[in-house]
Amino acid sequence: MIPFDFEFYRPTSMREAVDLFQQLDLEGKQPMYFSGGTEIITLGRVNQIYTNAVIDIKGIPECQVRHFDNNFLYLGAGSVLADIEQENPFPLLTDVSKEVADHTTRRKVTIGGNICGNIPYREAVLPFLLTESEVIICGSSGLRCCQIQEAFDGKLHLNRGEFLVQLVTERKYLSTPYVSIKRRKQWDTGYPVVTVAAIRVGQEIRVAFSGLSPFPFRSKELEIALNDNSIAAEQRVETAITTLTEPIVSDTEASAEYKLFVMKNVLLDVITALEVK
Ligand SMILES: Cc1cc2nc3c(=O)[nH]c(=O)nc-3n(C[C@H](O)[C@H](O)[C@H](O)COP(=O)(O)OP(=O)(O)OC[C@H]3O[C@@H](n4cnc5c(N)ncnc54)[C@H](O)[C@@H]3O)c2cc1C
Repeated sequence: MIPFDFEFYRPTSMREAVDLFQQLDLEGKQPMYFSGGTEIITLGRVNQIYTNAVIDIKGIPECQVRHFDNNFLYLGAGSVLADIEQENPFPLLTDVSKEVADHTTRRKVTIGGNICGNIPYREAVLPFLLTESEVIICGSSGLRCCQIQEAFDGKLHLNRGEFLVQLVTERKYLSTPYVSIKRRKQWDTGYPVVTVAAIRVGQEIRVAFSGLSPFPFRSKELEIALNDNSIAAEQRVETAITTLTEPIVSDTEASAEYKLFVMKNVLLDVITALEVK
């Protein structure tokens, strides 16, 4: 049970949503955008978040799109992971997403909610970091669009009252070779010890991580070391690890030392799978 009452709003346009947010904020109701609701409900139950009003973005048509337009794939932030998995417009995203929770939960969890959430893992962001996708964000002054690597630095930076509307990915990336490897402590569902998603663009391997740090990330410095194929793969991985500036954390899934050990092995698997011989 959630130990507090809150008002529930379901706007049908972006304008209505941002106006509602402003109005509820002025009334001191600490409004929150609500998508799948899985995190809001989980954290609300244990008093880790509090709100007097939620604004469900799933009734906004722009948040529900999943379509191609010219050379771009548009995915609405309110799309649930199970639908993305079933329709499969972005195979790497499907493979990463289908490792998040169980199928019943993925009928609720949305890409926007996963990317904007508070848990450290937020695995759905990895394919978008690798493909340098764009994010479309709505706020009181209208829509703005930017590359995800500019907006996502450990978390998606949104101004107060803004929400994520869509993610836009160039079609050329959707058929590029990729691997997605999730290592857990045990079982087939649950949070990762380490998740590594990787793609190959031309000769270059790009990698992004979840589980290692308190946030998902992609590191260009690590990629440079990993792509130096003048040296043996094992040595490249060792060098790549030394470039990391992100903190490696011990958590309920594994110690920092074990995570690093797993990461090294996974990076070798990535090289084996993606390197052009
Ligand atoms: C059993 C279980 C296992 C799980 N395992 C994993 C896992 O292994 N890896 C993983 O990555 N996730 C996992 N998850 C999912 C994760 O914990 C969150 O529950 C989920 O990502 C939240 O998505 P949601 O759509 O329900 O978001 P919500 O609960 O609706 O929102 C989450 C946060 O994002 C904000 N928000 C939502 N949508 C937007 C938007 N469009 N714009 C701006 N802000 C927004 C909300 O205000 C809120 O702060 C698991 C969940 C469960 C229940």
